[in-house]
Amino acid sequence: MSAIVLDGNKIGAEIRAEVASEVKTLTAAGLRPGLAVILVGNNPASEIYVRGKVKSSEEVGIYSEKHTPPDNVSTQALLDLVTDLNRRDEIDGILVQLPLPPQVDAKKVLMTLDPAKDVDGFHPVNVGFLSTQRPGLVPCTPGGVMEILKRSSIAVSGREAVVVGRSDIVGKPAAMLLLNDNATVTVCHSKTHDLPGVCRRADILVAAIGRAGIITRDFVKPGATVIDVGMNTVTDAAEFQRFFAGNVKREEGFRKKGSTLMGDVHPEVAEIAGAITPVPGGVGPLTIAMLMFNTVKAAKMRRGNRVSELSRA
Ligand code: NAP
Repeated sequence: MSAIVLDGNKIGAEIRAEVASEVKTLTAAGLRPGLAVILVGNNPASEIYVRGKVKSSEEVGIYSEKHTPPDNVSTQALLDLVTDLNRRDEIDGILVQLPLPPQVDAKKVLMTLDPAKDVDGFHPVNVGFLSTQRPGLVPCTPGGVMEILKRSSIAVSGREAVVVGRSDIVGKPAAMLLLNDNATVTVCHSKTHDLPGVCRRADILVAAIGRAGIITRDFVKPGATVIDVGMNTVTDAAEFQRFFAGNVKREEGFRKKGSTLMGDVHPEVAEIAGAITPVPGGVGPLTIAMLMFNTVKAAKMRRGNRVSELSRA
């Protein structure tokens, strides 16, 4: 039997529509949410990500502005920029696109962000809020994983969840969110013994590794939900054939572009899992949708008393 495919494009569009409706209400009350994105230098991948974030902001009605300091920017200049954005009331979210150039003390820059405007959810204050179950800003990709589960009616409470990957950006916050929703959580990494055996315990398996197709059918309990966070570009023809031989659509794309985007989960897993997220079109679209969600959440948390005062007036 083939797994149900969890459609991230559809779920992301649902979230963006909800956000757009909230933005409309806030804007009518004179509190249009605002997002500032800082893009240093000319990293082509970062430029694409930032373009997507700005475009998505415009689509949902969030005010956005882009700051583009040069590649040789100093730490102090970035600290000054962040401090200025921290002070500006109409800016609710500040996003510093990573990576920053080597001469910049990235940790210092991220620590300077006002946690109330930290829409990436990486500031230690927000990490602390998440681990102590207080309201705060949750990292976008793991937040998106939870939305996929919730909106697909996949129960989390009381179930075994295994997260492969322990990064601060994906693995750890995903594990914390699953734990907060009462899953029994195991976190795996490169030193885990018998990774397939541990993964096979999972009712919900989250792969956030960054290794194309590493999660094969031996890692998956029949019927499990498999969430594939990985984003890997395959350019080698032999590797492509190993994963996608006979997949006409993929083959056509690979011929045209010379590469294909795939997750950490081998395509054969779809034959054994109960539900699965595709790559592309699974977790990816949720990341930007959750950034929009976080910007509105930040606006409501920081300026919320003014929203309720206005609605009472
Ligand atoms: P990362 O910081 O490189 O972390 C990778 C994690 O995987 C580490 O904890 C590492 O273990 C573990 N790992 C590596 N090889 C392993 C192996 N053979 N067996 C078991 N564990 C292994 O990566 P990340 O930032 O978390 O991202 C993970 C993936 O998600 C990447 O493909 C990234 O592109 C993708 N991603 C997607 C989105 C999206 O929007 N869809 C957003 C963010 C990231 P150690 O800690 O022991 O080194």
